[in-house]
Amino acid sequence: MPSLTVAQLRSRFRGELIGPGDASYHDARKVYNAMIDKRPRLIARCVDVADVMAAVDFGRENSLLTAIRGGGHNGGGLGICDDGLVIDLSQMKGVRVDPSTRTARVGGGCSGGDVDHATHAFGMATPTGTVSSTGIAGLTLGGGIGHLTRTYGLSIDNLLEVDLVLADGRFVTANEKQNQDLYWAVRGGGGNFGVVTSFLFRLHPVKIVNAGPTFWPIEQTTEVMKAYREFISQAPEDVSGFFAFLAVPPVPLFPENLHGRKMCAVIWCSTASPEQTDKATKPMRTVGKPALDQVGPMPFPMLQSLFDPLLPAGLQWYWRADFVKELNDEAISKHLEHASRLPTALSQTHIYPIDGAAHRVGMSDTAFSFRDANWALVIVGVDPDPANKDLITKWCKDYFDALHPYSAGGAYVNFMMEEGQERVKAAFRGNYDRLAAIKKKYDSANFFRVNQNIRPGA
Ligand SMILES: Cc1cc2nc3c(=O)[nH]c(=O)nc-3n(C[C@H](O)[C@H](O)[C@H](O)COP(=O)(O)OP(=O)(O)OC[C@H]3O[C@@H](n4cnc5c(N)ncnc54)[C@H](O)[C@@H]3O)c2cc1C
Repeated sequence: MPSLTVAQLRSRFRGELIGPGDASYHDARKVYNAMIDKRPRLIARCVDVADVMAAVDFGRENSLLTAIRGGGHNGGGLGICDDGLVIDLSQMKGVRVDPSTRTARVGGGCSGGDVDHATHAFGMATPTGTVSSTGIAGLTLGGGIGHLTRTYGLSIDNLLEVDLVLADGRFVTANEKQNQDLYWAVRGGGGNFGVVTSFLFRLHPVKIVNAGPTFWPIEQTTEVMKAYREFISQAPEDVSGFFAFLAVPPVPLFPENLHGRKMCAVIWCSTASPEQTDKATKPMRTVGKPALDQVGPMPFPMLQSLFDPLLPAGLQWYWRADFVKELNDEAISKHLEHASRLPTALSQTHIYPIDGAAHRVGMSDTAFSFRDANWALVIVGVDPDPANKDLITKWCKDYFDALHPYSAGGAYVNFMMEEGQERVKAAFRGNYDRLAAIKKKYDSANFFRVNQNIRPGA
């Protein structure tokens, strides 16, 4: 890399520029998934929009492969790259809540926890994910699925505006009135169109939720899952619960005699009153013989960070996913077969309901096309020990191969690893060509290509 050019960048840059010779390089290049081990040439840790503009210009003018890092949580490690430039937004964290308009302006480097912390003080929330350390940027740009999806929609359904820096270095705002094509594309199309420096979200009155898990021994899966598929599709929209297979974590929250036992579970979140929650969920929570039922009131950020202590950065992760329209009896028997073989204590399967409010948005209203799917399935092999990498990978792939025939045909981009162009096209279905045309208009050289890549259209 010509040093003069780095010197020029330095003169326009207020944040840190970190290269292989710097003491902080090895920490700065780490991402959440320790299976990813990439060595960029330069990490540009931006502190403001001007830094992002300078970094984009630098990457483009030097023809560098350029990755954008928000929270660094991506399963496939798409927030970093080998031998190129990383535009790192992790320091751009401000959140400004405007209670009068019920909106929050969120910096491109915020985590879900940063957003919950700021909005909870005002008794409000916007739908994000289920682990608080996840980056709001990557999560939102892919769609954003979580506890409030049935009630208030995906994160993108509450996204009113973005500020972004385009491949040519220009700063633009996209919303319902300005740059409508970009506004459509960033709601599900990922980081393909520019570096988003801030997001404006709609907020909802959510402070205390009625939440927690119900666990059943995994042997009861067939009965529980059949009941769940009927239950959730009829449940009121202020009640949600995602289905999971997991081993009971060895933490004081759970009785010792259950620690390590494989379970199927529903993790509940209801914005209804405790009485209404009990009335609505009891028919499901009394199916079969639950091993544990721990639903009660808690502040929303507590629910959002419930899984955090179990899932620190630095574990090995292997991901596979698909959207699902129906959980038929054959699929249920395949789930039981593969989930019974959970390879490690932290490996899990989650099946997130994405109906309710998320179904009231049309398939081509935003780039996120699977509005007719009822669930987003994700299978994750997880373990601290790199020696178990092959074990968790094989389990995950075999499980996915068995379930894929029962899927809706494509996956949620944020639950995918690098799986090839056909899988990217399948994720966007009928919206792919429109995305490719917008990509051509704003990034015809495909500068932003470290992502689930939409190729510039013909
Ligand atoms: C433990 C865990 C739990 C999760 N739970 C959920 C969940 O409940 N719901 C859910 O929907 N997803 C969930 N995810 C998936 C998550 O949405 C994706 O991993 C997402 O990519 C993370 O975003 P990030 O900013 O942290 O990632 P990064 O690795 O930083 O980036 C991921 C992608 O987003 C792009 N990107 C990041 N920041 C920007 C930006 N500012 N501008 C433009 N592009 C950008 C990057 O180019 C890259 O392609 C979870 C992931 C993990 C690891």
